Amino acid sequence: MRLYALTCGYIRCRKNVFVPDAPREEIIEGPMPVFVVLHPQGNVLFDTGPHPGVFQDAFARWGGLAKAFEPVGDERSGILSQLEAISLKPEDVRYVVNSHLHFDHAGGNQFFPKSTFLVSKKEMEWAQKPENEGKGYFRADWNHPLAYRKIEGGFDIYGDGSLVIIPLPGHTPGHQGLLVGLPKDGKMILSGDSVPCKENYLDSKIPRNHLDEEQARKTIHHLHDLIEKEKALLIHGHDPDQWGKIKKPPDYYE
Ligand SMILES: [Zn+2]
Repeated sequence: MRLYALTCGYIRCRKNVFVPDAPREEIIEGPMPVFVVLHPQGNVLFDTGPHPGVFQDAFARWGGLAKAFEPVGDERSGILSQLEAISLKPEDVRYVVNSHLHFDHAGGNQFFPKSTFLVSKKEMEWAQKPENEGKGYFRADWNHPLAYRKIEGGFDIYGDGSLVIIPLPGHTPGHQGLLVGLPKDGKMILSGDSVPCKENYLDSKIPRNHLDEEQARKTIHHLHDLIEKEKALLIHGHDPDQWGKIKKPPDYYE
């Protein structure tokens, strides 16, 4: 097994979107990460980043949201170029796990017509509500004829404990993470936006953009327990400092 950490460009926004007590003027540029796990039974992609078109015209895809969230990248930042950099094509991806269906995590879904998508049932139901369109969700991102398999609760993808989807609700109702067990480097938790920055974990600070604060708090406490039990490394969703320390291709975790 191998795990590659890639990013589909960066997202520039006020830090206080994630860390509530950050100074109002502080701006961060966090990654929009996607992860590829090479597994003998088939490769798994965690998230698909934003639609590559946002790097040309963010307002066309994201409307008013593009004022608060500015994508930073170029034509090489899209998911397909990122995969190409590690010599993979879309058809090499057996499963795609969407942490959730927000604009910076599911924008590349349409490029994987042959993959099976593992999305939580609750998330799909939430994204389908007409009143949520434009509030982090865009049908143009996820509403394609794709093989969506709706998951309830967790799911051990290959039944060997090496890739286990764990529900991490709060940011959105059906948000989920992936516990990856690597033979050499040990366990990692890809936590998506449940814990976007390290401050959210260390001080249990709940980001402003989490829909359900109580649920989000339970999720962070659950992660504290899980990380202690599994001795896992927690990977944040949008933390610039941690991202700087993570191995990038051609380097990988194994
Ligand atoms: Zn996000």
